[in-house]
Amino acid sequence: MIPFLDLKAVNAQYRDELIEACTKVIDSGWYVQGKECQEFEKEFAAHCETKYAIGVANGLDALILILRAYKELGIMKDGDEVIVPSNTYIASILAISENNLVPILVEPDINTYLLNSSKIEEKITSKTKAILPVHLYGQTCDMDDINEIAKKYNLKVIEDSAQSHGAYYKNKRCGNLGDASGFSFYPGKNLGALGDGGAVTTNDEDLANTIKVLGNYGSQKKYENLYKGVNSRLDEMQAAMLRVKLRHIDEEIKKRRKIANYYLKNIKNENIVLPSVRVEDNHVWHLFVIRTEKRDKLQKYLLDNGIQTLIHYPLAPHKQEAYKEWNNESFPISEKIHDEVLSLPISAVQTMDDTIEIVETINKWKI
Ligand SMILES: *Cc1c(COP(=O)(O)O)cnc(C)c1O
Repeated sequence: MIPFLDLKAVNAQYRDELIEACTKVIDSGWYVQGKECQEFEKEFAAHCETKYAIGVANGLDALILILRAYKELGIMKDGDEVIVPSNTYIASILAISENNLVPILVEPDINTYLLNSSKIEEKITSKTKAILPVHLYGQTCDMDDINEIAKKYNLKVIEDSAQSHGAYYKNKRCGNLGDASGFSFYPGKNLGALGDGGAVTTNDEDLANTIKVLGNYGSQKKYENLYKGVNSRLDEMQAAMLRVKLRHIDEEIKKRRKIANYYLKNIKNENIVLPSVRVEDNHVWHLFVIRTEKRDKLQKYLLDNGIQTLIHYPLAPHKQEAYKEWNNESFPISEKIHDEVLSLPISAVQTMDDTIEIVETINKWKI
């Protein structure tokens, strides 16, 4: 069986370095809010080319805390609207509703699966305060267009970079393409911890300080509380392991690109639509997502032939029970995407033999 993603093998590449990093933390006697997190924040900010990075507990919290900080700073208030793509992973939308803000769904482009910037302006009202583009599957959104609209209407731009560590848009790295950015270090992400983790990056000093305080019970000075905060911190063990993995992320991206380019060049099947790449060097291929009208049949055929695939994502956010109020609304492009997408195996440890076998099996598929 060719697995969709062999996480054990991914981390085994760095086994000795990871064990050394963990041992250092164990022996230090200091497990939360220490040197490892501080160093990781510096290194991750440098990687994203931003002034600040703040470690938090997970990617959802990163997005929640950005919006919460804007509320504490008086830039947003309950009932304000945030524009978000209708085909994203649910966390992007949860972060908005969790803050008593209103998610306004905008359809993606059918070719890139990214927020369609030409459909944003018609959804802007006097309550709109932010755009939350999601660099879905590892490719950055049309940031020039999005930032221009944001400037025109005085909106904040909050990147959801949970799937796009290391991706570029033109000459700038994701995490540095808007006002603030949320990252996830969930184990399966391109930069994965061995547990939960997340970070916010920004160049805005006030925002960075507010998020830091909010994530630590709203406390700047021990036992003195500025805000009704939460506990959302990146612990020392995860930070130490992320420092190891950050050193290797650029090589891992290269390996993913090699597989993706092989797929793009060699998958030839008239019933399958390949992903469209806006600028080749941007994409970090968190997922390699193909599309076909007979998706469920293809998935079964591949499984019968020993190839595991996944669907990102089977049910559109507006069809979820959690968002009952949207269940009768229509987002035809999202619905088509959710019905037709299939993610092929891709990772830094996937062999060329496996990649070739996947391509040959797909090319033999008949509807
Ligand atoms: C994974 C993911 C998140 C949430 O990150 P967690 O660390 O799992 O909380 C948010 N947005 C997108 C697009 C994601 O893929």
